[in-house]
Amino acid sequence: MQQLANDRWIEIDIDAVKNNLDAVKSLLDDQVRLIAVLKADAYGHGAAEIGRQLFQNGVEFFAVTFLEEALNLRQAGIRASIMLFSPIISEDQLEEAITNHITLTVSSIYDGQLVDKVTRRINSNATIHIKVDTGLGRFGANKEETMEICNILRENSYIYIEGIYTHMAEGAADKASYTEMQFARFMETVKDLEQAGINIPVKHCANSAVFLKYPHMHLNAVRIGTLLSGQHPVGQFTHHLPLVDPFKFKSRIISLRTLEAGSYLGYYRTYRLKQKAQVAVIPVGYNDGLALGVSNRPLGFVDFLKIVAKYILKYMNVARLNLAVTIKGHTYPVRGKVFMQLALIEIPEGVDIQVGDEVEVPVKKTLAAKSLVHVYMKDGKPVKIDDRERTTYIVEEANE
Ligand SMILES: *Cc1c(COP(=O)(O)O)cnc(C)c1O
Repeated sequence: MQQLANDRWIEIDIDAVKNNLDAVKSLLDDQVRLIAVLKADAYGHGAAEIGRQLFQNGVEFFAVTFLEEALNLRQAGIRASIMLFSPIISEDQLEEAITNHITLTVSSIYDGQLVDKVTRRINSNATIHIKVDTGLGRFGANKEETMEICNILRENSYIYIEGIYTHMAEGAADKASYTEMQFARFMETVKDLEQAGINIPVKHCANSAVFLKYPHMHLNAVRIGTLLSGQHPVGQFTHHLPLVDPFKFKSRIISLRTLEAGSYLGYYRTYRLKQKAQVAVIPVGYNDGLALGVSNRPLGFVDFLKIVAKYILKYMNVARLNLAVTIKGHTYPVRGKVFMQLALIEIPEGVDIQVGDEVEVPVKKTLAAKSLVHVYMKDGKPVKIDDRERTTYIVEEANE
């Protein structure tokens, strides 16, 4: 097991995390709260450690999608607000969330009634945010339902309605009209509530893209994930922050041989060596996320042409567009089809390379296996190793 950890790991630069937090703060007014989104294992960086770093650097509000993610942050010692984006549908889980002081999302009358029932039964306070759907079509209440939820919950002194929020469908798109429409709907709901004497202190609708593009939509809280993880959202932005990607997927060469010109590489012989070369094997394959892409619908016609051009060039084996790894500061191409857990690298003859040399591999962070060891780096040195609990799957054999 230890050997495995030595051959493949994820390096996270803690200094970059701090840098990205400062970059986000530079666009944030003092009275606007930062809600740091740590869902999906903090976008692949390790939620517990990233949460701790942000907490130590003054972040007081976090958000995740599911209860187990929130409890994981509590176990990591984060004593700040942690909010759930998705509703909880079981009474037991709701009780667990409330006992752990997790801030809840109420997105329907059903959710509201359940929180009402559970808080009364266990005599405990709960803090909630109401989710309004203004056009994403995911969860959320409409204007009338929002009013009804407030009327149910107002009668319950255990419940504190701290926030109200919505989520935008295309905050990164060039056209602003749909986002502005969603914003107008949201503000109308807020206004209706205020006219009925219901003032909810925290109002939020901005994710990273909306935060960058629409300063007037910051309201008094913003929910930021992508920017903190060191990336700009996909799309055109006038504001660009000096972000640093903290994530590196590292591996080592586990085999190195010299093969003659004309040798085929990999399944289906999709690549043939043009000259004698060194062929290295790395223990990383598509099972680890290598060469897997997340495909998005093109953002416009130009974007569509770019994608088509990229595929054509890739098909023609234009090197720059092929998958490449970095060894000792130089890039070398991945050749042939990527295997399930292995891949082949072509390195010219005469280059000084050895078995065991470190290889940086372009695996997308959200696709990288969550179970890999995460090594946290500060000033270029490892400070902490987070040897992830390995999940054991019990496969029940089907009985006849
Ligand atoms: C993921 C998510 C965010 C954060 O979005 P980024 O674009 O990554 O900043 C904010 N709000 C909700 C409801 C989300 O699901």
